[in-house]
Amino acid sequence: MKTCGIDNCSKPIKARDLCSMHHQRLMRHGDPLIVMPRRTKKLVDCTWINCSSQAVSKGLCVKHYYINRVSKRNDQINVR
Ligand SMILES: [Zn+2]
Ligand SMILES: [Zn+2]
Repeated sequence: MKTCGIDNCSKPIKARDLCSMHHQRLMRHGDPLIVMPRRTKKLVDCTWINCSSQAVSKGLCVKHYYINRVSKRNDQINVR
């Protein structure tokens, strides 16, 4: 059985010497080798005052997320 004409692709041919995936890319982008870039997460800025770093968790950047976590831990220690 003939397989897809793309290197390293051994899927069965669907149309024009290409498997369904590569044929779909050819139809969609005019090039079966085009791989659409991964959808990137929506970028959110850190909500910390005067910080414009990219938020990674809970609206805070890496640095402030860490500070926030540490300060919360300290708060718990100080609670009586
Ligand atoms: Zn293929
Ligand atoms: Zn920040």
